Amino acid sequence: MDPLQEKAVEVFKQISFGDNGTNIIDANVVHSMSIEGTTAHLVFVIDKEHEGLRDSIGQQVREELTKIDGIEQVVIRFTQSEDEAKASLGTSPQQAQYLKEYANVILVASGKGGVGKSTIAVNLALALKSLGKKVSLLDADVFGPSIPAMLNARDERVLVEKDKIKPIERLGMQFMSVGNMVDEEMAVIWRGPMVHQALEQILRDSAWNGGDFMIIDLPPGTGDVQITIAQLTQATGTVVVCTPQDVALLDARKAMGMFGKVNIPVLGLIENMSSFVCPKCGAETPIFSKGGVEKESGDKNIPFLGRIPIELEVRLGGDSGEPVVDAMPNSAVAKHFKEMAKNLIDSLE
Ligand code: ADP
Repeated sequence: MDPLQEKAVEVFKQISFGDNGTNIIDANVVHSMSIEGTTAHLVFVIDKEHEGLRDSIGQQVREELTKIDGIEQVVIRFTQSEDEAKASLGTSPQQAQYLKEYANVILVASGKGGVGKSTIAVNLALALKSLGKKVSLLDADVFGPSIPAMLNARDERVLVEKDKIKPIERLGMQFMSVGNMVDEEMAVIWRGPMVHQALEQILRDSAWNGGDFMIIDLPPGTGDVQITIAQLTQATGTVVVCTPQDVALLDARKAMGMFGKVNIPVLGLIENMSSFVCPKCGAETPIFSKGGVEKESGDKNIPFLGRIPIELEVRLGGDSGEPVVDAMPNSAVAKHFKEMAKNLIDSLE
């Protein structure tokens, strides 16, 4: 056995299975384990009767395994029986089998929330479409899905037809969001395994049309969703959205580090809320300063894809469900988004 796996087994022996005096190895909870890079992939069997133990066992395993030098992420798939565990290996999440009908799968990420990541995802998707590309959009920000509102689809529920989930059609794109499948309050309480299952269902069972681009809006930071998407799709790469402030850049660096570990290239950085141009006098005010992200791109040798100023139209477009690239295609800010889309296409070529 590989030395890391041996260490992991020692850890498992210290984790008790409820209060019946055994550990999770002796109780046959650990069905299989593989370590890829710094990520440990585990399949556990916990029957229905002991279902209540999943969360605490999952949490202890994550905590203890990541203390081992060489293991940084832990992905656990919980099953209820040996048979289910075997079957789950057959459809191993490590095979990255979904979204193959798209030429490019682009992840939109950020180090922290509120930097305009979803706004960029929606408008970048529309800008790519305006350049003649066939685009779909997936809102994987399960804990705070904002794209349904940005596309005026908050009250829509996805339909199931012939065992397939039908993505919603908006502005010439297919799109899907957990927000259109369950009540928003539901998803907030999901833990790792449920997030994984929900995303896998969306990826596996949706009737995607395929095309040039699938744009995926990730939650901020680094977590279960990022790992799941990295495992289940062959992502072309990620674009990282930040505001120009240093503190946001620190968080963004962490996010970029994580993508490096799961072998997803960072295709470029985007600076949002760069500066404010007064609509009355035209004077430019760099509210969060300006240029920090471009400097970071230069320092790290990562393409800089563009900057989007703070504009009232961007916020209003998001709130009213009429994204600015579609509603005001000739505006200066829409042109910035199209320029960014061109830069992204160039970076792929
Ligand atoms: P995140 O996905 O990073 O949490 P959002 O895209 O939801 O961020 O944006 C947060 C808020 O900021 C929204 O109200 C959005 O309309 C607004 N916003 C984002 N980018 C801009 C911008 N360039 N100009 C003005 N408002 C913006």
